Amino acid sequence: MYQSRPTGKRQSDGQPRPNRSLRRRVEAVEHNQRLLRNTLSGLARERGVSVGCECSRCNRAYLLVAKHVMYCPSCGYDRGL
Ligand SMILES: [Zn+2]
Repeated sequence: MYQSRPTGKRQSDGQPRPNRSLRRRVEAVEHNQRLLRNTLSGLARERGVSVGCECSRCNRAYLLVAKHVMYCPSCGYDRGL
């Protein structure tokens, strides 16, 4: 994920980071998020579950929806369907 750039120059001139760098970081995050989402949905499909909405209890994961139950892989909250 990290791309080391061959510029030996560090930002030491006290200038704020240029927007381009911020944009590149946002694009990297979006790219990573896309990969994770695809991996997650593939994994969920393999396991016979689907990805539901955000856990309202911990807000740290999406709920996984199985046949008869919905559960949170982060806090363990579960709810029958
Ligand atoms: Zn949770």
